[in-house]
Amino acid sequence: MSRSRTQQKFESTDTSERWQETEQELGAQRKKLLSELSTDCESPDELADGWQDRDSASESEIRDLEFGHREALRKRILEIDRAVERIKLNTYGRCVKCGRAINPKRLAEQPEVSSCLACRRKFEDEAKRINLRAVWGVSQSLMK
Ligand SMILES: [Zn+2]
Repeated sequence: MSRSRTQQKFESTDTSERWQETEQELGAQRKKLLSELSTDCESPDELADGWQDRDSASESEIRDLEFGHREALRKRILEIDRAVERIKLNTYGRCVKCGRAINPKRLAEQPEVSSCLACRRKFEDEAKRINLRAVWGVSQSLMK
């Protein structure tokens, strides 16, 4: 996408027209992510062969990495779904937390973002706290 076309998109006042290109872009991204997810799924034997050459410690490390990668893919697909939903509901381009317009530059780079930078930072801090609490909860239940 050229810069001038992006610029035009943000100056347009018709919201349904305005995000048409973004919606298409999101759809294409979603397809790509989905195929990446299913490619990983189709070759478990291949992956297992690769693991046999390594010691058990790195085997679990690879499993963790693989799991993390797939989780990240799933999360992005979910974010894209939500972004498409927001386009349909006409709330796209606004922060889902505070309602302020999201920086157009951010949207152009990452069309699925749902919150402004300030809210995203707040959310990340909170997520870290919740994660810590969850880990603490798991270790507590293991000790019982
Ligand atoms: Zn916000």
